[in-house]
Amino acid sequence: MIDFNIPPYTGKELDYIREAIESGKICGDGMFTKKCSDWMEERYHAEKVLLTTSCTHALEMAAYLAGISPGDEVILPSYTFVSTADAFVLRGAKLVFIDVHPETMNMDERLLEAAITEKTKAIVPVHYAGVACEMDVIMEIAKKHHLSVIEDAAQGVEAFYKGKALGTIGDFGCYSFHETKNYSMGEGGALLMQDPKYVEQAEILREKGTNRSKFFRGEIDKYTWVDFGSSYLPSELNAAYLWAQLECAQQILDDRMATWNFYHENLRDLEEDGCIVRPYVPPYAKHNAHMYYLKTKDIEERTRLIQFLKENGIHCVFHYIPLHSSTAGRQFGRFFGEDRYTTRESERLMRLPMYYGMRESDRGYVTDMIHQFYRQKR
Ligand SMILES: *Cc1c(COP(=O)(O)O)cnc(C)c1O
Repeated sequence: MIDFNIPPYTGKELDYIREAIESGKICGDGMFTKKCSDWMEERYHAEKVLLTTSCTHALEMAAYLAGISPGDEVILPSYTFVSTADAFVLRGAKLVFIDVHPETMNMDERLLEAAITEKTKAIVPVHYAGVACEMDVIMEIAKKHHLSVIEDAAQGVEAFYKGKALGTIGDFGCYSFHETKNYSMGEGGALLMQDPKYVEQAEILREKGTNRSKFFRGEIDKYTWVDFGSSYLPSELNAAYLWAQLECAQQILDDRMATWNFYHENLRDLEEDGCIVRPYVPPYAKHNAHMYYLKTKDIEERTRLIQFLKENGIHCVFHYIPLHSSTAGRQFGRFFGEDRYTTRESERLMRLPMYYGMRESDRGYVTDMIHQFYRQKR
């Protein structure tokens, strides 16, 4: 059986977890948390990175820090994971879904301006598959209309837009280190901020509404409750796992890229024959091989291909059912304009097995079986 995903493991994780235990500190904001956030701040040129318990929580923090309040509108794609929407629903916002580019499945920035109303407060681009949205255009529109930009870069760690790390372009960026992502800590994430004005409030929000972070830095001599807060700190055990991954960031990237490139090269002929459509990476984007997907003719063909591969021991999955067609999506949001691509393209898309350490023979078997499916069809 070829799994769809295997959580990344590089070899040092257990040593670092042991080290955390032996250090006598396993709650949040210890040595490994600091190593991870310092590493990201430096590598991605981020003003501030706070490790969080998930990307969902990083998005919740961003929604709060951006001042989203009941009745505000937030513009996002409908083709995304539920967390992108949940964070804003929690603040009482109304969701305004816009259509995607069929080539990248990212929000179509050309539709943004028309979707803006007096109530609009934020734009939430999602960098699908670690392929950047058209950020220059999005940032320009946001600036013109005084809107916050919160990047859902859950899939975008180690991916870039015109040389800038995803998650560092908008006011806030949110990373995921869930076990299905390129770099993992089991469950976890990070909030990235570019403007120092948010940092203190973010630290307070993350530390149950206290100024404990200041206290730990020795800036004050006791800590107290200063504002609304929650608990978004991951434990050192999780951070220790992540540190082993970040140390091998390049190695993990290279390995995934080899699989991605193999799929892309070996499925070229099927695209040329008009059987499938392969992913497209715009010239401004440097992707991170987060996922490899292909598009079949329609949903019936996709169902048959997934079934065929399953019968042959290959586990593939389809992706998001558009949020605007879900129960909660209808309740909390509306689709702006015409759904030309979101539903149609989401029904054709399926993801191939992709994980760190995937064997060459396994990749080859996957592409062979896809070829066999289309040969039988003829
Ligand atoms: C994985 C993912 C999330 C959620 O990440 P968690 O760390 O599991 O909370 C949010 N948005 C997108 C686009 C994702 O792919």
